[in-house]
Amino acid sequence: MISKTSQPLFKNIRDILDNHSSLFDAYAKLEPLILSIFGASRMSLFQRRKQHQDLVARFKTGKETTEIKVPISPLSIAGYVALAQRTILIDDPYNDAELKAIHPRLRFAGKFDKDSDFKTANILCVPILNAGVLLGVMQIINKRDGAFSDADIENGKMVAAVLGEKFRYELGGTNNPFDLLVHKGLLSQSVLDVLQDETPDTAACIQRMVSEHRVSEQNIGEALSTHYQVPFVSFLPDKYHLYEGNSKLNLSYLKRNLVAIIADVDDKPIVLMAEPNNAALLMEMESAMGIDSYDIAVGLPKQILQYLGEGSGGAPGEMSDILDEIGSSAEESEEQVDELSDDAPAVVRLVSRILHDAKRMDASDIHIDPEKNAPTRVRMRVDGVCRDMSQVPNSHHSAVIARIKIMANLNIAEKRIPQDGKLSFRINGQLVEVRVATIPTVAGEGVVMRILASGGAMPIEKMNLAPTTHRRIEEMIKKPHGILLVVGPTGSGKTTTLHAILGYLNTPDKKIWTAEDPVEITQPGLQQVQVSPKIGFTFANALRAFLRADPDIILIGEMRDKETAHAGIEASLTGHLVLSTLHTNSAPETITRLLDLGLDPVNFSDACVGILAQRLIRTLCGKCKEKYIATEKDLAFINRQYGPDYIGELNLPEPLELYKAKGCDHCGNTGYKGRTGVHELLGMTPELRGLVYKEASVEAMKKQATKDGMRSLIQDAIFKVIKGDTDITQIQSFSSD
Ligand SMILES: [Zn+2]
Repeated sequence: MISKTSQPLFKNIRDILDNHSSLFDAYAKLEPLILSIFGASRMSLFQRRKQHQDLVARFKTGKETTEIKVPISPLSIAGYVALAQRTILIDDPYNDAELKAIHPRLRFAGKFDKDSDFKTANILCVPILNAGVLLGVMQIINKRDGAFSDADIENGKMVAAVLGEKFRYELGGTNNPFDLLVHKGLLSQSVLDVLQDETPDTAACIQRMVSEHRVSEQNIGEALSTHYQVPFVSFLPDKYHLYEGNSKLNLSYLKRNLVAIIADVDDKPIVLMAEPNNAALLMEMESAMGIDSYDIAVGLPKQILQYLGEGSGGAPGEMSDILDEIGSSAEESEEQVDELSDDAPAVVRLVSRILHDAKRMDASDIHIDPEKNAPTRVRMRVDGVCRDMSQVPNSHHSAVIARIKIMANLNIAEKRIPQDGKLSFRINGQLVEVRVATIPTVAGEGVVMRILASGGAMPIEKMNLAPTTHRRIEEMIKKPHGILLVVGPTGSGKTTTLHAILGYLNTPDKKIWTAEDPVEITQPGLQQVQVSPKIGFTFANALRAFLRADPDIILIGEMRDKETAHAGIEASLTGHLVLSTLHTNSAPETITRLLDLGLDPVNFSDACVGILAQRLIRTLCGKCKEKYIATEKDLAFINRQYGPDYIGELNLPEPLELYKAKGCDHCGNTGYKGRTGVHELLGMTPELRGLVYKEASVEAMKKQATKDGMRSLIQDAIFKVIKGDTDITQIQSFSSD
């Protein structure tokens, strides 16, 4: 459709481009020529920038060079043309309806108009392509007499094609995705031709280059990067993860089109495509995700599939993918999908993924909660706080529960009564043990899994004991006999503490027996026994057995009843060091509890060397915690809770600097990461012993113990606030003690 008169103009354009080393240099001569073709008054030439995924147009105004940058997105006219790779004609850029008809979010910035007295009346905008790869955008503005015509569109395409050749040359693009391999001498042109001829499927073709011609994936990636003018991203699971929004897209669609939305550590989304010049696909992705800001990168088909969870070496795949897979078959009737039916592999992988995620996040518990007529909730407790993780379609609830029950050797058919068992799985070669409890609810069977701490004992130095407490506890456990109790509610870290103490005491000259339920932490050198009350092997039985087995130190997991408590005291009075736990809230209260159980006050106070009460509190994220000057309110709280008689020992500086939670990527924006212990260590002194004989009140014993050196949980917590481990809000929970 080119009029004969314009033909010489194209030749002129070519000549100008050939005689200048860059498009920018040629611009001054090029502009009047191109404008004369269209009879228009202005033009902009945008060049695509490979590393930035945007377009940049440069203008010379006098001595200055101005740059305009626009992202490749529907938020601007040039950006949209680059994204959609189609020519558009706009009769009035100020007519919103006209823009909306092209793309719902298309905008005309009009910045130029605002900054000058120029008014944009109409626009012809053409993508500049070469070998199907977008290199830039040409924008022709304000046709002098009336509107742009079909002939202008055709001329626009011709000019763009001529410019495309020049752009390609300037940007170093290639005609064929694999040309760079030939250029580098990694493949000969004839081999490449044969390969592409015999193997039209790109993924298979790349596979042949790797396996038959020893071309590295990195080299192939670089060739693709040069051709498509976007960065190459290989499979680096430590650096990139699937973007959250990826789960909104249908997995099989993504796999079929070899596209994944990944994100880097800053969670910046990257659309990773095997063919980044597939504008239609990019447009679909763009509208499905509903985000404007993202990068585009080229990936190898195999590696894109790896991001999507395929063939990643036996790993169970991403939760979202498995759920997606399950979701696509969720229309089946509910009765049909019971136990491990057709969906078995997906369900097996789903349970496996839940367990892996829990371990990876360092969760202590996993809750699988059935809901009536709603998806099953999967929650995990991390650092003591429950978090929603994912949902499982209602139709697959029983299959998931059945899978867990099979793994834990529980009766699948029995759904009316609670059951408990244990399962184990491997992650990175490490065996992880999980205690499983099923509980029937009105909405169905629920499961709670406790992930048992694995690995060895924590060194006593890592317990974050206050210096005085540290010194006092070492004195206590050096005694050859007596009983030391570690007390606190479930999940307060008692087992960790006991094993830290055992680790300290564990030397070849001592015989150490432990009776635990369950055995969570193992240490070489200890004789550890798993008790099983169900078959009549109780803590008391184990203790009696140990006494016949020449022990020096005995750990009794818990003094649940009078019989065990009594046996523990007896053992400690006959020359053994006994360690045990109790579910009590404070150290002084423990004494009253044991006396209430019917223990003899004289025997107990003679045997007891100490009682350590403890809690875990959340610690501030080290990457984002914020320093501030303590407020009047903070100071009043600290004074009141630490007590006027003891506050002096803290030697508080003035002004007092404390820390508070902020939130960053490292801590999932919570401001907290990990937990630490707070401790209350009561030592048995002659004065306190006198009060135990008299069965004095908890208050009286607490007062005496404090005089003897004990600091309460809240006092220790305040010490840790001042140390910067945690903030005041975290310790207000037990300020009522
Ligand atoms: Zn943080």
